[in-house]
Amino acid sequence: MAAAAVIVDGTDRTRRRFVDGLRFGDGLRAMGLSKAFLGWPVVRQLTGNDPLGRGAAAESKRTRSWTARTETADAVVKSVCPYCAVGCGQNVYVKDGRVVQIEGDPDSPVSRGRLCPKGSASEQLVNAPNRIKHVLYRRPGGTDWERIEAEQALDMIADRVVESRPRWWQDTDEKGQPLRRTMGIAALGGATLDNEENYLIKKLFTALGAIQIENQARI
Ligand code: SF4
Repeated sequence: MAAAAVIVDGTDRTRRRFVDGLRFGDGLRAMGLSKAFLGWPVVRQLTGNDPLGRGAAAESKRTRSWTARTETADAVVKSVCPYCAVGCGQNVYVKDGRVVQIEGDPDSPVSRGRLCPKGSASEQLVNAPNRIKHVLYRRPGGTDWERIEAEQALDMIADRVVESRPRWWQDTDEKGQPLRRTMGIAALGGATLDNEENYLIKKLFTALGAIQIENQARI
């Protein structure tokens, strides 16, 4: 622990503690103390070449045999985080046709390898076992969600747009000034819509005359 403190504040006092720790380790060896004790991570951190305790000093026999998913991937695909308009670059690691890890892309001029906690969890968005991959519908007054086909859902949405747009259309206001809008349609996007999808959604709904168009993709 003393070795960790020396790196954090860098004071003379903690430096001395670090050097003392090294001497302490030498003393222990000279005294022939048990291999198990010398294998203790704090002692290895104090006496070895890993004073930050982020490498060899922190390894166990078990973790030493582990390999990062990024090292065993078949391919790395460049992508962009889907969550917000910052557009951080991502490296998507693929193995056997399956996404196994997603990390920040150091080549991205936007994010230079960094991802916020949402972007860092993108792999869970792809592979979450409870991810819903079909359309659910709750009819008016219903208390349960019903599974329907995507084709059916698209037809239902189209029917409602065709019916609502003219029904709630406002051509002018009470002074005769032009409005040319419908108040019967609104759009609310989700956080996993990307910039391009939002661009197309905005285009479509504005062309339909809707003015209530929002997306909740905020950091
Ligand atoms: S959600 Fe985070 S990682 Fe993703 S684009 Fe926005 S800031 Fe970047």
